Order: sequence, then structure tokens, then C-alpha cells
Amino acid sequence: MQIHQYDTVIVGAGGAGMRAAIESTQRSRTAVLTKLYPTRSHTGAAQGGMCAALANVEEDNWEWHTFDTVKGGDYLVDQDAAEIMCKEAIDAVLDLEKMGLPFSRTDQGRIDQRRFGGHSRNHGEAPVRRSCYAADRTGHMILQTLFQNCVKHGVEFFNEFYVLDLLINDGKTAGVVAYELATGEIHVFQAKAVVFASGGTGKMFKVTSNAHTLTGDGQAVALRRGLPLEDMEFFQFHPTGIWRMGILLTEGARGEGGILRNKDGERFMERYAPVMKDLASRDVCSRAIYSEIRAGRGCGPEGDHVYLDLTHLPPEQLDAKLPDITEFARTYLGIEPYTDPIPIQPTAHYAMGGIPTNVEGEVLKNNTDIVPGLYAAGEVACVSVHGANRLGTNSLLDINVFGRRAGIAAAAYADTAEFVELPADPGAKVQAMVDLLRESTGTESVAQIRKELQESMDTNASVYRTGKTLEQAVADVQALKERYQNVAIQDKGMRYNTDLLEAIELGNLLDLAEVLVVSALAREESRGGHYREDFPTRDDVKFMQHTMAYQEVAADGSTSIRLDYKPVVQTRYQPMERKY
Ligand SMILES: Cc1cc2nc3c(=O)[nH]c(=O)nc-3n(C[C@H](O)[C@H](O)[C@H](O)COP(=O)(O)OP(=O)(O)OC[C@H]3O[C@@H](n4cnc5c(N)ncnc54)[C@H](O)[C@@H]3O)c2cc1C
Repeated sequence: MQIHQYDTVIVGAGGAGMRAAIESTQRSRTAVLTKLYPTRSHTGAAQGGMCAALANVEEDNWEWHTFDTVKGGDYLVDQDAAEIMCKEAIDAVLDLEKMGLPFSRTDQGRIDQRRFGGHSRNHGEAPVRRSCYAADRTGHMILQTLFQNCVKHGVEFFNEFYVLDLLINDGKTAGVVAYELATGEIHVFQAKAVVFASGGTGKMFKVTSNAHTLTGDGQAVALRRGLPLEDMEFFQFHPTGIWRMGILLTEGARGEGGILRNKDGERFMERYAPVMKDLASRDVCSRAIYSEIRAGRGCGPEGDHVYLDLTHLPPEQLDAKLPDITEFARTYLGIEPYTDPIPIQPTAHYAMGGIPTNVEGEVLKNNTDIVPGLYAAGEVACVSVHGANRLGTNSLLDINVFGRRAGIAAAAYADTAEFVELPADPGAKVQAMVDLLRESTGTESVAQIRKELQESMDTNASVYRTGKTLEQAVADVQALKERYQNVAIQDKGMRYNTDLLEAIELGNLLDLAEVLVVSALAREESRGGHYREDFPTRDDVKFMQHTMAYQEVAADGSTSIRLDYKPVVQTRYQPMERKY
């Protein structure tokens, strides 16, 4: 076991992690641990854009952006955090531009902006052009730009290091424990400040836009160390995933004028959202699609999808603004988007919930107190700026604004704090977990349990939920957790043992799926991405609060989920009915 010492350790090298690293490296001795090479992080898959009220192409201001964010989040957003995000959005985009990001431009040479779901002018009056973009490769450009700037600032990366545990001593952050993929060695990183920026959890679903690596490792590590997870029942289903595959076709396609159609060719969103139409929030569009399918107006022999129609847009526009996603349609479906509509269905996309933080990125251990030295930012965190439903383009924004803030705050803390003594035998827990899997003679397979988990989540905890389906999901997940105890892996070796790590990642997904479904079962209302057919309206009296879920461990080692709730911060906007 090797022991390293850094002032600040950042877990994850996606957009949030690298934005944090650029700040903290300039202020404190920083290491970035990442299970992927930085430029392979999921941020690089983001397509459509990053919103900021630059007002480059039409009138706009950050207050309208804040309103849309709060309304889009169905009023579960902490409004102080949303104000900060929307205000700082403008500098966040300009910072990226200065770092060298090649944004798409207007004829006058300014950063171009396009429409995106839920973003409106003057409090919902009409769609507004707010999303800054680089064709449909915005995330790719952000990730590359941040990486280049990390290289410039000499950020120290530990690539293919999987963080599997967090060390807390006497209530304070002491460091993390990581597994090195190349050697199978365990490394302890003692640190004054730790920033989790390890991304989302989408692989608990079958049809998902998320990369295979999005297994919620950071959330699971925090949960097992007794920290709460906030609002995990709110998971976003993006309306336009490629049918059956889930690969994302950006909302930018509808921002450019794309239209959703049912089997009769009808533009059905006109019925569900008369003002915003195809650019209503994602939760609204995803439910509308399933409503069409349920009403027998779905397309194809099985009537199980609808169409994204781009055929009325000039081919030059598609080539210039949406080159990647039109190529996806050709590659994965053999469809020519110039002439044919693209079969789509909602796809599991984004975790609104995560590790609770305040606006400085400090992690909360309960409703009020922080864990000194511990920070989180990006999709792993819940600030909460997305509330019950995130608006498109607000995540690339979130990772830049709060990644930066967490990096600055962590380095400032490390500047004055002392190292906390490592607990005795700091790598023991990870070593035991790894040994148990290597030595297991069990009969269960990782692939089979993962498949059953994903199928149950897709069937029972997706766009539409009821008490009955959620009870089924809780029972399924708990049974799968039981079977997971008996899981075995084929590869017993030390080097590049991805078999072992997939097993660990599955364990993380199971724990997080349990939190999601238990939290969802208790939330007897419909809000944002969480829609209960048995409780179809929003209940502000009982549920205008954040869920805080804790994992409790019994004397026999078995675990259960305890739920608590936390008030929502409201500043300016009183909850209203959401009309589109
Ligand atoms: C297909 C797709 C398109 C999207 N398009 C948009 C868009 O247009 N606009 C928008 O705003 N949002 C978009 N999103 C959402 C947005 O891209 C993500 O929410 C955001 O990029 C997440 O950034 P992150 O830095 O938090 O995590 P990620 O970019 O996922 O990075 C996570 C990092 O953590 C590391 N990591 C994970 N686990 C461990 C571990 N155990 N140990 C060490 N390191 C670990 C990984 O190696 C990786 O470097 C899209 C998402 C998808 C999937």
C-alpha cells in the first residue's frame, strides 16, 4: 500500500473536476484522481450547449434565466444557488472563451446562441436564444479546453485510479483510498481537502444516454460513510434517445427547429405545451411521448416510439449545427435525417440528486452542518440548482460554475487547515472489499445482476411511477443486493482487472438504486422528473422539501435507508402552476 500526501485531492477529471483543478492547482498542491483518462470523461459526450444570458442575439438577462431554472425544477430548486449559477454563467462562458474554446459564432463574430428546452424570455413569454454552443460537440470542446488548461497549469493527474473510499477522522476529511487499475495496488491519499467530481449514476437504467462508467462511485462512497444523498428520486429522462439504444440526440435538434411527431404525423407537443411546444421542459416532453405511445399513437409495428423530424430543415443547417447527431442516426439506425424522421424514445439521462452541498461546494452531513475539508461539484453533487428537473444546458453550466467555486474553496481551506491524522489501517476497508471479490466462489454473475437491475428500473422507476411499481422496484433491488453477496468474478489477477471493478461498480449502482426507489416511494406527489400516477399533482404542503437519504447499518451488517427532509430555499419566486 502506497501513501501519498497532497493539500487537495480532486476525484474525477470531467468538466467539474478539471474546472476545480485549474483553480486549486494555482493555490494548493493538488492531485486529480480519475478512473478514466480525463478526456474520456462523460462531459465530452455533451452535445447541445451551455446556457448564459449573454444577450448576444436577442434580449436576455440572468434573472429570466434564474426564473426558468426555478420553474423548470418545479420549485424544488434552492433559489439562492440558482441565482449564483445564472449570474456567474456569463463569466463562466467568457472564461472558457478566453481559455480557447471554439464556440460557434454569429456573422458578426460573437458567440452564437440557440434555443433550448424550458429557456424563455421574460418569465415564460416565448423561447429565447440562450444556449452557447460549439456545433453539437459543446461538451467535447469544453473537456478538451479544460484539459489543455490543466496541462498549462501543471495539474498532476493520477489516471486510472479508482477512488473506493473516503477517510474521515474525528469528523474531518483525512483523504481517500484508491485502487490502481494497472497494478491492482491500493493507494492512500492523505489530503486536507477532497473534492468529489465523479459524475452521474445513469447505468442503473437500461435505456440510457450515459457512458458505461457512470456508476455513481462518489455518491456510493459518501453514502457508505454515513453521509446523506439528496433528492435521488429525481432522475431526468431525456425525450430524444435513439429508439431502444438510448444514445442521445441533443435537444439542440429541437432548438434548431426539429419537431416531435406521432404515427399520424401530428406535432403532438402543441396539445401538451401550447407556448413552448417541442421546447417544453424535458419531463413534460418525455411524459407526452409516453402518453402518445400509451394512447396507441406510437410509431413502428410495435407502436413503441415517436419521431424526431428534421426533414424540413435545410441540409446545410444540419451539417453546420448538428453534424454529430445526424451521423448517429445514419450509423446506428441506417436513417438519412435529411429525408426521414428519426425514431426516438425517452432515455435515462441525468441525476438531479446527489451529495448535498452548499454554494461553496462544502458537503453537508445533515441539514445544517458541513464536513470540514469535503467538497463536491458537478453531477455527483446536489447544490440544488436543478431541483426536480434540470433544464438542458444547465449542467455544463453547473460544472463550470460550481467546479470553479469548489476548487477555490477547497484550496482556501487547505491553505489554513492541518492534515488530519489518517485512521489506523486506512486502506483496510478497500482491501477487504477487493479480497472478498477476488476470493469469492459464489455463483452469481455481475452481468446478470446488472441486467436485472436495469430492467427493473426501466420498468418500475422510469418516466411514470406508481406506489405499486416502486414497491416492486424496492423488492427487486433488495433481492439483487442479497444475491450480490454471492457474486463471483472470473479474473482473479492484479493487472487491469476490469472484471473486479465492474463488480464494485455494480455494488455502487445497487446501493444508489435502493436510495432512488425508497425515496421515490415515500414522495407521494408528482414534481418535475418524478411522476406518480397515483399522486398526479404537486403537493407543496407536504413535499416542498428536499429528501435526505441515509444508509443505516444494523449490527448484523445489513443496511437500510432512513429518510429525512430539508427545507427548500426560496428567495424570489413563489411556487406557481407550471404551464408551457
Ligand atoms: C450524452 C450526453 C449529452 C449531454 N449534453 C449536455 C448538454 O448539451 N448540456 C448540458 O448542460 N449537459 C449535458 N449533459 C449532462 C452533462 O454533460 C453532465 O452532467 C456533466 O458533463 C457531468 O460532468 P461531471 O464533471 O460532473 O462528470 P463527468 O464528466 O461524468 O466526469 C466524471 C469523472 O469522474 C471520474 N470518476 C468517476 N468515478 C470515479 C472513481 N471511483 N474514482 C476516480 N474517478 C472517478 C471519471 O473518470 C471522470 O473523469 C449531457 C450528458 C450526456 C450523457
